[in-house]
Amino acid sequence: MTDAAEKTEALEAFKTAVREVLDGKGVIEDAEGKAAFEREWRGRYSPKAAFVLRPKSTEEVSEVLKLANSHGVAIIPQGGNTGLVAGGVPFERGDEVILSLGRMNKVRDLDADNFTMTVEAGCVLQTLQETAEEADRLFPLSLGAEGTCQIGGNLSTNAGGIHVLRYGNARDLVLGLEVVLADGRIWNGLRGLRKDNTGYDLKQLFIGGEGTLGVITAAVLKLFPRPRETAVAFVAVPDPQAALALLGRMRAGSGDAVGAFELIPRIALDFALEHVEGTKDPLESRSEWYVLLELLAGKKDSGIAETLEEILASAFEEELVTDAAIASSEAQAQALWFIREAIVEAQIPAGGSIKHDVSVPVSSVPAFIEEGMALVEKMVPGIRPVPFGHLGDGNIHFNLTQPEGADKAEYLARWEEVNDAVHDLVVKRFGGSISAEHGLGRMKVEENERFKSEVELQMMRDLKKLFDPKGILNPGKVVR
Ligand code: FAD
Ligand code: ZN
Repeated sequence: MTDAAEKTEALEAFKTAVREVLDGKGVIEDAEGKAAFEREWRGRYSPKAAFVLRPKSTEEVSEVLKLANSHGVAIIPQGGNTGLVAGGVPFERGDEVILSLGRMNKVRDLDADNFTMTVEAGCVLQTLQETAEEADRLFPLSLGAEGTCQIGGNLSTNAGGIHVLRYGNARDLVLGLEVVLADGRIWNGLRGLRKDNTGYDLKQLFIGGEGTLGVITAAVLKLFPRPRETAVAFVAVPDPQAALALLGRMRAGSGDAVGAFELIPRIALDFALEHVEGTKDPLESRSEWYVLLELLAGKKDSGIAETLEEILASAFEEELVTDAAIASSEAQAQALWFIREAIVEAQIPAGGSIKHDVSVPVSSVPAFIEEGMALVEKMVPGIRPVPFGHLGDGNIHFNLTQPEGADKAEYLARWEEVNDAVHDLVVKRFGGSISAEHGLGRMKVEENERFKSEVELQMMRDLKKLFDPKGILNPGKVVR
């Protein structure tokens, strides 16, 4: 038999066996049913799944993996499928199986005194934020896709978002995990301990593992006291250097109360005003750069709004700030945050966009933006850089919209060439990272190999081999 025929036979045998394990809703085979699971956000690939499995318990996941491992069938774990590096979708061959965790969406426990909740992988992030709030607690992970992405996906990508500078990445928000290993064994590491030094911190291998080492089925998440007051402002600044200086002042002058600090260039606001209904420019005068920032206070009458105004006033005198809109109500704060979401959405109709999710030391952000913009302008005259995002974490989404009137396909064909140049600048000049928060997935595997040392790559390969000797978990992603 040829390799292909053997594979087809194994896949069929696996399907027959798995039908015995899962209920009627657990196997999706029709093209229409599969389509949503095969969608790829960046639109760069056309993933095709043999079929989709939807287990409803850890035991079912375990049975599925046991069978997949013995039949040698590739399994692609998937959460909300909002990932931006094609990590949660199969290749085009159609011989891989998607394992969707969406039906495992129970909150198993909430321990308000321990400031923890134990949740299943398929819980939607926004639902978990709401669950925490009902118990007068905060689960601080927050990102644009929160209405759709799932905690299992968030942990597997070590998601970032807008509150990292205050609460850390997803990695910092976990005390324990339950994981099903490639051969079906279940690891119950659901410990709710703040301190536990009993050897290697194994959970951290699965967090950010992008489904290549095991399937996360549940987690113990850290909760925090809810902020009692917030102060939100949309601030015009002359340039990123001034934004950086303002960040330092805000952190130092507020008792480190900065909850979010997002950089927005004028072009991003212009795109949003043009393409996203409901976007309003909160300021009368034009500025080339803005910061959307939030201060958080743990108690009422904290004086946080006054602190914000004082720092802005002194920054204004030194020309670090040229104008500001301070929200005086929850609705106004929401309107300002709406702009942050709109600038992401608006880049789609604005034309072809070559993306980068990079980080550099926070202090190097202004120099990186300046040199990066000059570099890409030289490569593609007329290119429209839209560098925006998490300045407080040194994480800029260095997105590049095509020149006006350029051919979209021709422009996007230069994706890799432009990526290479920008990533060289990020890593070699600034000691930065080519993936700050989205992961490597399928998209950045080769690129990662250009920058990691042989020692580091070999450690990654060794880990993969140890946890998944038959290579059935998300093969070809992250490391090869
Ligand atoms: P999926 O896309 O389904 O999967 C992502 C990866 O995790 C895949 O490799 C998959 O195989 C693996 N995986 C999923 N579930 C499991 C599991 N249970 N066990 C093992 N592996 C698993 N990301 C940020 O970090 N910060 C942002 O600010 C941000 N903003 C975004 C805004 C928008 C509008 C969109 C569309 C995306 C954004 N993202 C952001 C990217 C994305 O939302 C995150 O990567 C998110 O964490 C992915 O979660 P998901 O459930 O959709 O995972
Ligand atoms: Zn982001």
